[in-house]
Amino acid sequence: MTIAPEAPAIASVPEFLELELTGRCQLACTHCYAESGPTKGHGDMTGDGWKHVISEAAAVGVKRVQLIGGEPTLHPAFAELVEHALGLGLGVQVYSNLYRVRLDHWQLFERDGVSLATSYYADTDDGHDEVTGRDGSHAATRANIAEALRRGIRVQVGIVDVLDGQRVEQARAELEALGVTSVHVDRVRAVGNATTTLPSTSALCGRCAHGTAAVLPDGSVTPCVLGRFLPAGRVQDEGLAAIFAGKKWAEVKSLIPPRRGVNCTPNEDSCAPSPGLDPCGPDCGPNDDSQGGGGTCGPASD
Ligand code: SF4
Repeated sequence: MTIAPEAPAIASVPEFLELELTGRCQLACTHCYAESGPTKGHGDMTGDGWKHVISEAAAVGVKRVQLIGGEPTLHPAFAELVEHALGLGLGVQVYSNLYRVRLDHWQLFERDGVSLATSYYADTDDGHDEVTGRDGSHAATRANIAEALRRGIRVQVGIVDVLDGQRVEQARAELEALGVTSVHVDRVRAVGNATTTLPSTSALCGRCAHGTAAVLPDGSVTPCVLGRFLPAGRVQDEGLAAIFAGKKWAEVKSLIPPRRGVNCTPNEDSCAPSPGLDPCGPDCGPNDDSQGGGGTCGPASD
């Protein structure tokens, strides 16, 4: 007999909320979790809708938002949303492909409370561009990582090991030589473009839905952007507070296997790390080393 989880009496609110602003991206990565690309749109959410979500997030106890996509800087309200989040006291991480960066966006990235993260694939033009599907993307992203460092902006870089012979270790060495202090290597997750089968919770890290949640371009609330196949409701219909307090969210949490080394039981509101082991941080995201260089946020099945 299966016992359906009850909605918790007191909502447990993830401290880290990923806002997937758009499906549009200049790149077309072979492994993209969101199946983003140049022909995709911004989805159902308006700029005002995103502002409302950010306000609600701050009100219910979220501490930090990540603006991601697609390429989040392509959303017409991107700068306004960063300002809005900062104005409410939220930390903001921008997860950008750093393919093109506007001058006003550099100025935003330099603001207190804003951090930057990006993805990188190889130390050669051919190797990187083969993954992104865009000639010139390696040179552009590399130059913008260097520019971020020159401006004193800390950049977290994730390398996703997608293709055989991708020169992942050479890419790591190149980034470290550039001065990047936070480089995390992850294997590709079986989500989005990277899977031809039904996605599985085994691709998730085990902290999703406990410390992290996401809002997708259609307004769906999911455990994280990788856990997009587990929607718990739409912000336009119910609002964040009601979703986090609801039965569906409790069900979603119960479906995600705890990461090895993290003491979680289904429906438990917190996941305590076992002594001596290295759990995912609450801001685990695709390719994101949230532990400042030392942690991992790989699938729980690893
Ligand atoms: S993985 Fe990131 S950079 Fe690549 S297509 Fe998807 S959203 Fe764009």
